[in-house]
Amino acid sequence: MIKTDVIIIGGGATGCGIARDLALRGIPHCLIEKGDFAAGATGACHGLLHSGGRYAVSDPVAAKECFDENMILRRIGEKCVERTGGLFVRLPGDSKLFRERFLRSCDDIGIPTDILSSTKALELVPSLNPDIEEAIRVPDCSIDPFRLCLLNMKTSQMKGGLSFIRHRVTEIVQSHGRCIGVKATDAATGEVKEIHGNILVNASGAWADLVARLAGCEVPLTLSKGSLVITNHRLTDMVINRLRPSSDGDIIVPNEAVCLAGTTSLAVDDPDALSTQSAEVDTIIGEAGRMIPHFNQARIIRAFSGVRPLLKSQKLDSREISRGFQIIDHQNGLYSIVGGKLTTFRLMAEKMVDAIMNAFNLKRDCETADQPLDGQEELSGYPLSKRLADMKNILCECELVSRGSVEKIIQETGTRHVGDISHRTRLGMGPCQGGFCTFRALGVMHDMEILTARQSVQSLREFLQRRFRGIRYALWGDQLREEQLVEYIYLGILAMEKTRERH
Ligand SMILES: Cc1cc2nc3c(=O)[nH]c(=O)nc-3n(C[C@H](O)[C@H](O)[C@H](O)COP(=O)(O)OP(=O)(O)OC[C@H]3O[C@@H](n4cnc5c(N)ncnc54)[C@H](O)[C@@H]3O)c2cc1C
Repeated sequence: MIKTDVIIIGGGATGCGIARDLALRGIPHCLIEKGDFAAGATGACHGLLHSGGRYAVSDPVAAKECFDENMILRRIGEKCVERTGGLFVRLPGDSKLFRERFLRSCDDIGIPTDILSSTKALELVPSLNPDIEEAIRVPDCSIDPFRLCLLNMKTSQMKGGLSFIRHRVTEIVQSHGRCIGVKATDAATGEVKEIHGNILVNASGAWADLVARLAGCEVPLTLSKGSLVITNHRLTDMVINRLRPSSDGDIIVPNEAVCLAGTTSLAVDDPDALSTQSAEVDTIIGEAGRMIPHFNQARIIRAFSGVRPLLKSQKLDSREISRGFQIIDHQNGLYSIVGGKLTTFRLMAEKMVDAIMNAFNLKRDCETADQPLDGQEELSGYPLSKRLADMKNILCECELVSRGSVEKIIQETGTRHVGDISHRTRLGMGPCQGGFCTFRALGVMHDMEILTARQSVQSLREFLQRRFRGIRYALWGDQLREEQLVEYIYLGILAMEKTRERH
């Protein structure tokens, strides 16, 4: 049995942020995640480090939190934040009244705005719709959610924190009415680990109610599914938002070599039963195309969905539900932390750890807003040309990932999953969506004797199934042509269907 002080359930931005904060305040902890880090909403989001502009009119408290955290994160997380700046563009027909409210609300909150003529906006982003009436510049940024989680976990690991990924918490151990630990099942081996702690933190996002129920508690949530599409090019260097009340398809965010556009908002019951609807993809492309016309011809390489864990509300439109967060003390050693945004994860963690310090009757101030994230120098960072400099043996041409960096991740983590390599290097995240590099990465694992031939074929098959679930909504034009080529390679040359029979 493992003993620690604090057990964190969930390795999204919130859980990883809590682990970092606990580490910096000297509190032993153990984080348990059922997938890889950022496997939930964190890895399925736009990666917009909000300036607060989006919520300025409807949710000023959340907007102010976003603005303050944006200022902190751009300072402490230089290597995972790209200071793109953002534009709110007003198209013909968009309400002038909303524009006035937007400017006034930003002003009240302290979000700096700069009104630009359409000519000036087009100079900044030439791909914009030339018909825009005007644009308002705000300090939006682009943030890499995978790097963000890994960097937070780096501090935890450096200070002796424990973490188990691919371990699902299946039971909360209780004694005399108090939660004293968890049982977590290793997805690879089926082994059950028992971990005991004085305080348990449920940071499991959309799964928070399911986890709380293991201790006989409840977390009232509204689950809101959002979908996103990815283009094979970076169509804009700035974040582009539509200047209107939040609606479908009104944000485009550049991320490294690609762009993410979205999103939608649909109520769901089960965070594990997600599917992207073709209609959502059509809506996003249509709306994004109104801001950047080239979007209509751009090659869409993937579509995917995530679930926002929103605080329970009677409001019918989940867009109107507050993006604020809440800490629930279940009064039995279990706390749940829900709501919020990726942008506000650090603040959420700070408040959660303040509550833990109180419960332990300990005093040590939070340092996460002042200390730069550990380990940033090891990350490739921007721009892509930096990666090109140390390229010898390239495994992933789209994202310039070398064999050396893949070998390093395998050595460090012992992983058997290509997805873990992707999250740490961006392998397979470019236009071919892993079509040409996955079998190479599996070959490296085989060379390094991490996987047997049989296991690598099995992994390849699972990967192809997952990959197809994402790209099936983007199958037209060049993407369809490339997909056919990839299909010939996998089914024709590598005979993947036949290998099913052999193994
Ligand atoms: C489509 C979409 C776009 C978004 N865009 C943005 C954006 O651009 N900017 C922004 O600031 N916010 C954005 N958000 C919101 C943001 O993604 C979330 O608020 C944030 O990521 C939530 O983080 P979390 O750590 O609380 O939850 P999650 O990231 O969902 O993490 C919870 C983790 O708990 C794990 N877990 C669940 N059950 C168990 C168990 N039994 N055992 C072990 N582990 C378990 C899950 O696997 C998961 O990894 C977006 C959300 C969506 C859905």
